[in-house]
Amino acid sequence: MTFSANPWVHDTARIAAIRQELPDVWTYDIELVDRTRHENYRFRPGQFNMLYLPGVGESAISISADPDSRGPVAHTVRRAGNVTQALGRLEPGDTLGLRGPFGTGWPLEQAVGRNVVLVAGGIGLAPLRPAICQLLAQREQLQSLTLLVGARSPDLLLFGAELEPWRRAGLDIELTVDRAAADWRGQVGVVTLLLDRLELIDPAATLLLTCGPEVMMRYTVQSALRRGIPPGNLWLSTERNMQCAIGLCGHCQLGPVFICREGPVFDWPRIAPWLFVEGL
Ligand SMILES: Cc1cc2nc3c(=O)[nH]c(=O)nc-3n(C[C@H](O)[C@H](O)[C@H](O)COP(=O)(O)OP(=O)(O)OC[C@H]3O[C@@H](n4cnc5c(N)ncnc54)[C@H](O)[C@@H]3O)c2cc1C
Repeated sequence: MTFSANPWVHDTARIAAIRQELPDVWTYDIELVDRTRHENYRFRPGQFNMLYLPGVGESAISISADPDSRGPVAHTVRRAGNVTQALGRLEPGDTLGLRGPFGTGWPLEQAVGRNVVLVAGGIGLAPLRPAICQLLAQREQLQSLTLLVGARSPDLLLFGAELEPWRRAGLDIELTVDRAAADWRGQVGVVTLLLDRLELIDPAATLLLTCGPEVMMRYTVQSALRRGIPPGNLWLSTERNMQCAIGLCGHCQLGPVFICREGPVFDWPRIAPWLFVEGL
């Protein structure tokens, strides 16, 4: 990690480029203004930064960049409330504050020799993108690598232009949408149906990483367990309201777990007693 000595202190960062991905989703390529700090900036796939707009507030945003790229660091953002709307009014060259990276990453060291299945719903593909880049870089060490993606409709598939290059690099991709257009050749239905039907050569040697709406992850876990994937091989990225990002304020607490510090990526046995429990 490349924290400032004090994790409350922001680095000043500059927006290098902005790309519209979907009607309400933009990717911001951000670089630290201090060149030395930018060059030393490292993160693990699955980690997040706190993006700060003075006078507006701060939001947790996952890093969607390739970890091996030394260029600007991509963050893919859906416009939701105060901070993300205000971010939408910024332009390349504008500055903002950045703290991070924070949190745990995907357990990619466990991928070697295994069948790896990634299950993404909607913008949940953003925190998985750095993992996809790293897994493709070590593709020959994996048994298989499959991405199952669900979106509401074909025009709302995130990173659509990257799917073909990823396929060519060795990622098997299956897509499904809730509502299909006339020219749609993929599946129709929820993403967990893709998992139900996926041919699993060796469930015990399968590692599954998932990120998306909680209801999607709940059905993904159920399907994976039914298919015989061991509970400890299931990894989920969770979201809660975050303020300090360093396990002090308690806003993201789930039972005894601080999502910001112990997560956001958890293995299923660790988070199962608390996630999907009403009232928590
Ligand atoms: C670890 C982690 C990683 C994350 N990664 C990403 C990511 O990569 N990309 C991303 O887009 N998000 C991500 N999020 C979610 C993001 O942090 C939240 O959406 C965040 O709250 C956005 O900040 P905001 O100030 O724009 O929204 P907030 O003002 O906090 O609003 C959040 C929610 O409240 C609703 N809301 C806000 N204002 C109103 C209003 N006036 N009336 C009705 N409803 C309202 C919004 O619709 C939204 O659903 C992540 C969260 C976590 C914890």
